[in-house]
Amino acid sequence: MMPGTITLNGFLGKDKRSLGTIIKADEQELDRLEISAEEIADRMQYFTDASFSTFDGTITLEEFFIIETETTRGRIPCPYSHGGMFRKSVTKLTNTKNHATVTWTSLNIHLIKEHHFFEGKGSSFRLEPALLVKALF
Ligand SMILES: [Zn+2]
Repeated sequence: MMPGTITLNGFLGKDKRSLGTIIKADEQELDRLEISAEEIADRMQYFTDASFSTFDGTITLEEFFIIETETTRGRIPCPYSHGGMFRKSVTKLTNTKNHATVTWTSLNIHLIKEHHFFEGKGSSFRLEPALLVKALF
């Protein structure tokens, strides 16, 4: 449990709230936005998969979405320590309709889908649910 706990703390940023409180607050935000973590994660996965094979070039999808995925060698484990391993990739998406931009990793998609964890405030890959909804849909 210890190594997992320490790693998970690295995803909390400057957030002073507990992990459970952070997740609960984001779940309430999702209710307000009338969307599920799964719907958001599936949309992120779709954009990552679609841009994965462009080998670090940008692609445009559905007219308004410009996406770029950068990959690095290796895999990163889920900090929840259940053995899940994820490719190292960073996807940047810009919605040209409203100029919203979001950047996420493969691990972010998993953390959102399986753990409803968007990371703590001030963490470098914290993703605000409202911004994700604005950018992705
Ligand atoms: Zn996990």
